Amino acid sequence: MRGTRMTHTRRTLVVVGNGMVGHRFVQAAIERGVTERWDLVVIGEEPRPAYDRVALTSFFEVGAEQLSFLPGGAYDDPRVRLVLDTPVTGLDRKAQQVLLGTGEVVDYDHLVLATGAGPFVPPIPGKDLDGAFVYRTIEDLEAIREAARTATVGAVIGGGLLGLEAANALVQLGLETHVVEMAPRLMPVQLDQPAGATLVRHIEKLGVTVHTGAATTEVQDAGDGTVGGLGLKEAEAIPAEVVVFSAGIRPRDQLARDAGLDVAERGGILVDEQCRTSDPAVFAIGECAAPGGRMYGLVAPGYAMAEVVVDALLGGPGSSWAPTCPRS
Ligand SMILES: Cc1cc2nc3c(=O)[nH]c(=O)nc-3n(C[C@H](O)[C@H](O)[C@H](O)COP(=O)(O)OP(=O)(O)OC[C@H]3O[C@@H](n4cnc5c(N)ncnc54)[C@H](O)[C@@H]3O)c2cc1C
Repeated sequence: MRGTRMTHTRRTLVVVGNGMVGHRFVQAAIERGVTERWDLVVIGEEPRPAYDRVALTSFFEVGAEQLSFLPGGAYDDPRVRLVLDTPVTGLDRKAQQVLLGTGEVVDYDHLVLATGAGPFVPPIPGKDLDGAFVYRTIEDLEAIREAARTATVGAVIGGGLLGLEAANALVQLGLETHVVEMAPRLMPVQLDQPAGATLVRHIEKLGVTVHTGAATTEVQDAGDGTVGGLGLKEAEAIPAEVVVFSAGIRPRDQLARDAGLDVAERGGILVDEQCRTSDPAVFAIGECAAPGGRMYGLVAPGYAMAEVVVDALLGGPGSSWAPTCPRS
């Protein structure tokens, strides 16, 4: 009697982005057996593997190694290929291929976009001067630390949670520090006026000067292409050699837009409750995704999305990340 041999063709799953959520997805995929059937190719543009971005500010005390989720530099599964320091520059959905910045083309059967979000930098004059920074990656913090060595005053544009965290970092780096917030109070999304006033008192005790109701009109040039200060609407300019933008984040959905995937009105890749985009072969998770049209600037919803995509790949009953959020 001839035996029957079961063969499973291995398929390729490409993950774009090795940030907090992309990493959680890969980990869950390994732990839950996705790599029994799938080869994973994980492509990240940052020069290092995923790290704890939530704890980013502690980089100044503990260094990059302590923050890393993958200190060994590779996943403990030979079926996962990790490509770092390489952006994905294009996506051909018809051919099911991604194009890397190196020119390499990678075929996929399924694709997971985990490209996160980027800081919003308002389009004001001087935003690109030497000495103007954002606060998102270890490289940003390395650059801020380097600039702080020769600076005396720093200013943060944006008095939300992240702006205050950045301001605290500037104080730790020894700079006289200002926070400039356009709204009439700090943390305008979370706090009412009295709570905002209390927070200002606390923050000022830490040595930060708070300017609320202050609109930044420009980053001033010191005359040599470096930051010299912040110009404010109807108020005196603040001299500063270091400026940090912390004026909110925007989902990084450009790849998806260019490839014709549906995006939400306010940005973010539209996904259904299984985190599928308008192309069933493509999922999106984390801050780049907008389930029901809304993006979440927090890590926990992204982790939940990562698990939901693993469910979908394993072909189980399929859990829903946001059953009450239909695609808009
Ligand atoms: C200072 C700071 C403090 C924070 N504190 C908190 C907190 O207390 N609580 C909380 O819930 N959240 C916090 N957050 C937000 C949290 O870090 C994010 O929610 C989380 O990182 C989202 O994970 P993600 O994988 O979606 O995005 P990211 O972690 O940003 O990862 C996306 C990755 O994709 C890469 N990428 C983008 N485009 C491409 C491309 N074309 N090709 C290849 N790679 C690409 C990016 O370089 C990045 O490495 C904080 C963020 C910061 C900056």
